[in-house]
Amino acid sequence: MSESYISKDKLPVVIGALMGRYRVFGPVFQGQYHEFAELKKPEEADLSFRNTRLSPKALFHPQAERMFEYSLAKDDPEAGILKETAKDYSQRVILGIRPCDARAFQIDDANFDTPTFKDPWWTKRRAASTLVGLACNQSCPTCFCTSVGTGPFDASGLDVLLVDVGEGYTTRAVTEKGKALLEGIPEAAPASQTALAAAAELEKSAVESIGTQFQPGPLSEKSLLEIFNAPFWEEVQFACINCGTCTFVCPTCWCFDIQDEVTGEQGDRLRLWDSCMFPLFTHHGSGHNPRAQKQQRVRQRFMHKLKYYNDKYKTGVACVGCGRCVNSCPVNIDIRDVGRLMSANCTCPA
Ligand code: SF4
Ligand code: SF4
Repeated sequence: MSESYISKDKLPVVIGALMGRYRVFGPVFQGQYHEFAELKKPEEADLSFRNTRLSPKALFHPQAERMFEYSLAKDDPEAGILKETAKDYSQRVILGIRPCDARAFQIDDANFDTPTFKDPWWTKRRAASTLVGLACNQSCPTCFCTSVGTGPFDASGLDVLLVDVGEGYTTRAVTEKGKALLEGIPEAAPASQTALAAAAELEKSAVESIGTQFQPGPLSEKSLLEIFNAPFWEEVQFACINCGTCTFVCPTCWCFDIQDEVTGEQGDRLRLWDSCMFPLFTHHGSGHNPRAQKQQRVRQRFMHKLKYYNDKYKTGVACVGCGRCVNSCPVNIDIRDVGRLMSANCTCPA
């Protein structure tokens, strides 16, 4: 599909027009960090950010989601009947999402949108969303997207890709959904050859600056048990405090718990983010816990990301190299180091 160009001075007008057609979410500077939030006015969108502290996964898989509600009133004939809580599935645009985060949603689809099971809330939100991505001209020191099958200009998870070329953005529709969005924007003019050349140069330098930081390829060839039983897990887990930060900031961590909360005669069934790093995550009702030890939990996280997922789906690892877990871990555990250990020759105990 052809590329167009939107000058930066017209961006507020473009966003304002989009807000008339969609709910628009974008990176907003709040306190010390950029976070994805619904825009109340076009000027709130700040596309000068590197990346958001939290991934935008909460827009599709909220940290706390009220799934159902029910009455417990004795005189209510419908007491105890679960009723789905109303949700907003109107069309929306996620503006400025980074390519890695959009790619992460495709990885998460393997959990929420399968041939045999479709999570209704995830799939309806995915269908209602148009992802307008912003290429990363400048990566963070913790980024390694190019090592895990994506990249700073990867448009594969997006509907539209924007590239900041200085005075404006080159704008490429990637899907029919993206094309429909751009067709309603009269400010989008055909991109000049100069702008397209600048975008291509920016992509080349962005990819080169990130480079290859570890090779996950050999992991698919290695025996699961060889990695599982490797001695290096003792060292990897040593400093971990099982805080769960790495899982909460991660765009490809989808685990959740379901709990009921009752206030008076009103009950709510909630879906809440959970973490494989928490000791109660696998605690059985019987009292048995198959991952009672910290080392088992730490190993589970890295094995799931870099080994189990690819062994099961054969589509690559379940990590997009956003670097958030590296950046946020209070004890500096770095998935790139763990990936190098896992993909190197490991010595199994006898
Ligand atoms: S953020 Fe670091 S310390 Fe916290 S659970 Fe993850 S690896 Fe462990
Ligand atoms: S494991 Fe870490 S680097 Fe990979 S997607 Fe999750 S937060 Fe990003």
